[in-house]
Amino acid sequence: MNSDAVTMEKIVSLARRRGFVFPSSEIYGGLGSSYDYGHYGVLMKENVKARWLEAMVRERDDIVALDSSIILHPRVWEASGHVTGFTDPLVDCRFCKLRFRADQLGEAQCGAKPSKHPGETESCDLTEPRHFNLMFSTRIGAVEETGLDTYLRPETAQGIFVNFKNVAQIARRKPPFGIAQIGKGFRNEITPGNFIFRTLEFEMMEMEFFVPPAEAEDWYRYWIEERMQWYLRFGIRESHLRVRAHEADELSHYSSATSDIEYLFPMGWSELEGIANRGDYDLSAHTEASGTKLEWVDSEMGERYTPHVVEPAAGVNRSLLAFMVDAYDEEVVAERPRTVLRLHPEIAPVKVAVLPLIPRNAEIAGRARALYEELRRAVIAEYDDSGQIGRRYRRQDEIGTPFALTIDEQTLEDDTITIRDRDSLAQERIPISGARAVVLDKLAQDWRTPKPG
Ligand code: ATP
Repeated sequence: MNSDAVTMEKIVSLARRRGFVFPSSEIYGGLGSSYDYGHYGVLMKENVKARWLEAMVRERDDIVALDSSIILHPRVWEASGHVTGFTDPLVDCRFCKLRFRADQLGEAQCGAKPSKHPGETESCDLTEPRHFNLMFSTRIGAVEETGLDTYLRPETAQGIFVNFKNVAQIARRKPPFGIAQIGKGFRNEITPGNFIFRTLEFEMMEMEFFVPPAEAEDWYRYWIEERMQWYLRFGIRESHLRVRAHEADELSHYSSATSDIEYLFPMGWSELEGIANRGDYDLSAHTEASGTKLEWVDSEMGERYTPHVVEPAAGVNRSLLAFMVDAYDEEVVAERPRTVLRLHPEIAPVKVAVLPLIPRNAEIAGRARALYEELRRAVIAEYDDSGQIGRRYRRQDEIGTPFALTIDEQTLEDDTITIRDRDSLAQERIPISGARAVVLDKLAQDWRTPKPG
């Protein structure tokens, strides 16, 4: 199918129908820009995070992991510049009462005439832009007077910077080295979010790479390339990815250069991940505010300096959305429509399904169950004995399961089963005794999407 025909409605519908993503608080009418993840959404998110952590920590020697708190001392956010600088410019329309991001009027729809942009009709009456802080405030302590006002973190990076000294001391690493962290971030986003693209809370995968100042530019280019390769490695089509460097007036308050990796989402090219050259902004700011020197000291070499920081910051949920959009496909097979998620096997929530052709045949069911028990020890597997076989295949196609194993009457005669490939629909008979090895081998092979660019 033509990829441009993948609408967000189709993704939302599949995500809901198959239990990837549900609207949040639905029985109370839903809460805007909030979503809950069902079984397959959770499994898929876990895969995205695991692939990221492998690429950052397992496959390298120069990055260590961290899990810092969501609630930090409020002074962290003052020093980091978020209290004053982490704002969006917003305009209100006095006529339709809607609120828009001043920098995104061209993409927004007028409340009175959705075919136009805000400010384009006679009745539009927009205020001057006002800066609105995106951090959610909260309060520590039960007593109003003695409580401490603070924020839910809008990014995980600050938890890394304030731990720089702890980690540098015990990690036995000198710059260039990195600290990687996955965790929730919270932003009081005002503009509606294109499904899970922009939500009030989301998971981030951030890595702060600390480098000698003279090397910052080279590492910035290095990390843009590395991160592009990560998306390609897990099957995103090259034609749907691009790098876009920020203009000077787009840069965040901490950044000297930023490039976004953008994906061609149904609503157009949009940020998937940002790679920023943060200079020594953060370590210097926290050194000044806390009085603790966050610097690199090498007494043997007589070296002392504040490292510069290069940061690739990605969103788990946005990645999941990009993987789903890129994988979504519709085709007609034997005159019947088929919807399939052509996910990379390492991203797919379920790796293999075991399907007894005639579930009420106890012998078939027994063999199928035994095979399932064997497989589930190695990979996420699913046993499905409900409904006609065609419907079971369709279900597995829609959740993106790369392989389905069917146990039938012939199995009872010659100990073979059928393995069905999600993408090619090819079916092969293989001995049941070797099924586990065959599945593991196929899962480990290189995978390229059969979708045209
Ligand atoms: P945007 O311009 O889209 O608001 P940003 O430039 O503010 O994003 P960063 O601060 O660079 O985003 O955050 C790093 C990553 O975290 C983003 O690339 C995105 O994948 C993810 N992210 C940021 N805000 C949200 C959100 N509200 N919902 C979901 N993911 C988000």
